[in-house]
Amino acid sequence: MRIAIVGCLHGSLSEMYQTLPPVDLVLCCGDFQGFRNEADLDSCHVPEKYRTLGSFHHYYAEPRDIPLTIVVGGNHEASNYMCELFYGGWLAHNIYYLGVAGSVIVNGLRIAGASGIYNQNSFGRGHFERAPLKGGSLRSVYHLRQWNEERLRLLPPVDIFLSHDWPVDITKYGDGKALVSAMPRFRSSIDTGTFGAPPLTRVLNAIRARYWFAAHMHVKFPAVKVHAANPTVSEPHYPSDPTPKEWLDAHAIHPRGSIKPGPTNQRATRFLALSKPLPGKKDWWQEVLDIPAPSDKSPPTLTFDRAWLAITKATHPFPRAHNPPILPDGASALPPSTLPADVNARIEAALSSLDNSAEVSNVQVFVKTAPAEGDGIPEAHYTNPQTTAFCAFLGIQDLTNPAPP
Ligand SMILES: [Zn+2]
Repeated sequence: MRIAIVGCLHGSLSEMYQTLPPVDLVLCCGDFQGFRNEADLDSCHVPEKYRTLGSFHHYYAEPRDIPLTIVVGGNHEASNYMCELFYGGWLAHNIYYLGVAGSVIVNGLRIAGASGIYNQNSFGRGHFERAPLKGGSLRSVYHLRQWNEERLRLLPPVDIFLSHDWPVDITKYGDGKALVSAMPRFRSSIDTGTFGAPPLTRVLNAIRARYWFAAHMHVKFPAVKVHAANPTVSEPHYPSDPTPKEWLDAHAIHPRGSIKPGPTNQRATRFLALSKPLPGKKDWWQEVLDIPAPSDKSPPTLTFDRAWLAITKATHPFPRAHNPPILPDGASALPPSTLPADVNARIEAALSSLDNSAEVSNVQVFVKTAPAEGDGIPEAHYTNPQTTAFCAFLGIQDLTNPAPP
């Protein structure tokens, strides 16, 4: 499958689709900025000088001929719209958002992702934010939550993972020196181990994705993390995947220094961060890769990931508390699990009640909620029928989406 990956999009959809070669699939690593209208800009926490509508609203207003596009959220989003699609859903015709966290199957490849960025103060909180978003919830809404980290770690091995933030310490597995010389302001956080998101590193080590793409830092950076052999999980070998050396050589923006690429015969995560749309620097924010898929259907089909559906059902309802749990003295770095104690038994039970492969389009169909720009006056809250349909399909109560009382 020919796959395009883009870093931050910052609303430049037309520029992206016009400059990409023909591909089967587009993956976008956040700061997508799906503003349907001017009012959506009020739900984006962004400095005034960056407040621009962008071109998403054209794709929202009328279907366009674009490849299947899969999106995770960043920290500059139409957060009200993404809240409507908490579990994932179509933002527009052929543009699918993975939700706060999610996993889907495209032509047999498992593509998972986490939306948002890491913030220590929000990490233990529940998902308490509801539209209309105001004050602190405009920011906390896009912070990664422990609940999502724990759920993602339950996934079987993943082919491709998308995040906005970077896994903390991933810089150790690429040419960190070249990165710091290009971006000197990153030095102190890299040196103190605070550059990126610790929960994403724990997810990476658990799911051992073959490919991991990220954005957020507005710089291109490749890395390869080779995993120790894990006898408890059967992980197929993919001879077509680039070796660590090939991966680092192919994506290095600066000459590679003295990094060791690692052995070629072990499971490895090929990491690539991409930048934002920059005039004349397409290579910095777009990458096109050929990744063989088990099925060669064209156009590719988007199906739900049965494993993720079971995890979603088994971990329902999501935590909603505003205040994180207070830890006893001497507690370890991680707070107690947010998942039910019998989560594995619940997942087994959920799996036996689920169909093998449900196409997303059989459950969720794109419908406009708020009016497109110039098409009327938006309301403060919408109940998105796609979330209603998803919850009914899974047999869970819709707690994110009903109209406020
Ligand atoms: Zn950005």
